[in-house]
Amino acid sequence: IDPLPASAAPQPARLIGDTPRGGSVLSFYSPRGAARPPRVGRGEGVWLWDADGRRYLDATAGAVVANIGHGNRHVIAAMQAQAERVSFAYPRFFESEHNIALADRLCALAGEGFDRAFFVSGGSEANESALKLARQYAVVTGQAGRWKVISRDPSYHGSTLGALAVTGDAHTQAIYGPMVKPMPKVPAPLSYRLPEGHTAESYAMACADALERTIEQEGPETVLAFILEPIGGLSTGAVVSPAAYFQRVRQICERHGVLLIYDEIMSGAGRTGEFLAAHHWPGARPDLVTLAKGLAAGYTPLGCLLAPARIVDAVAGAGGFVHGHTYFTNPMSCAIANAVMDEVERLDLVARARERGVGLRRRLEAVAARSPLVGDVRGLGLFSAIELVADKATRRSLPADFNAPARLTEHGLRHGIALYNRRANLGAFGDFQMITPPLTISEPELDELVDRLGRALDDLADEVVRRGLT
Ligand code: PLP
Repeated sequence: IDPLPASAAPQPARLIGDTPRGGSVLSFYSPRGAARPPRVGRGEGVWLWDADGRRYLDATAGAVVANIGHGNRHVIAAMQAQAERVSFAYPRFFESEHNIALADRLCALAGEGFDRAFFVSGGSEANESALKLARQYAVVTGQAGRWKVISRDPSYHGSTLGALAVTGDAHTQAIYGPMVKPMPKVPAPLSYRLPEGHTAESYAMACADALERTIEQEGPETVLAFILEPIGGLSTGAVVSPAAYFQRVRQICERHGVLLIYDEIMSGAGRTGEFLAAHHWPGARPDLVTLAKGLAAGYTPLGCLLAPARIVDAVAGAGGFVHGHTYFTNPMSCAIANAVMDEVERLDLVARARERGVGLRRRLEAVAARSPLVGDVRGLGLFSAIELVADKATRRSLPADFNAPARLTEHGLRHGIALYNRRANLGAFGDFQMITPPLTISEPELDELVDRLGRALDDLADEVVRRGLT
């Protein structure tokens, strides 16, 4: 069945995505809740079918995960082959050929400055590992006074407590703030709504300067690292900053002996048209990089920290990394990620993300020209977003409690398109919808995507008028 009949009788309001208060009522699978999303049946390529056979285009690759699409036969065969050999062997007793192969491969893809890989189960764990490796490096190199990790506001680095300490989100801080060590924040260079008198470029440079001021105020000898999403996902909605911003940030970090960490959990693994988003700014290499999501593309949970030998070897030489998880360097997960990376190479998906990104951008700009609700289109490669607004001329957002992204998801499901979103800061910096399909998407499927998206936006626009929100 394809897709839900557009004329289907209006369904009772369901709570899809976040509630207006920024939480999810779906996570605990309460059997009592009437508000349920469709139950997934199967997936193939860019498509997901629900248990009733309805088809949905996976326009965001889930949570920016399914980079090689669903149902890939090569990966499924590799999963089965590895499961038949051994699915778990604790890495402190046994190494696995897949761990080594994946580490070698990722370091080669990441390029100069990356010689070691540490595998964990997801993005938050990868960031925890980065923060802890940076800290232990400081301790073993006589810089134990360095512990503060500066990050940006808004930003998203994960949901565990360490990752939350560096996440710039007033809403989550209001709940969990007392449980985490407060860490200094500097503004993220947003590009759509700017302070008076600034262009996107001048504001980005002002944000870089704020980093240096903050390091100096905090005392450089106390500052361990600066962590940022080179292109933000849930936090900024695919804002691409000018190269000069990254260069200045790199220089500032260098000047003050501060480690630069790129959280590439969404932007990495090829999505932006380079294997790392960092590769777009070769003069501004980070010291540490974290990956997850597209790395194993949803076939298994996997995250990774990439680091230079100088840092890892210093820590190893001083007794080893005091950090680990039961599932670190899991051989099953590494085998699967190797098979995913085989497909990324065989199908030339990094180049494809770059090329298809051009076509997606052109189509989204046409959507924006038609829809009264789309105020901006931005991104790089197949990492893009549209800004949802009440008024294009004034760039005013829709009311926060309307929860436009959740409403768009709801309308999207009725038009056979799955649109993931999660509002950072309860929409305080505006609302956007990520558009991040699998990198395998074809040109005709891009047409389908924008057609379905356009219909969902039309329904949202009708709803906005009906509720008198313009
Ligand atoms: N960092 C970024 C930039 C993310 O987008 C995410 C997840 O969306 C995370 C970290 C956390 O990853 P995970 O949800 O796998 O723990």
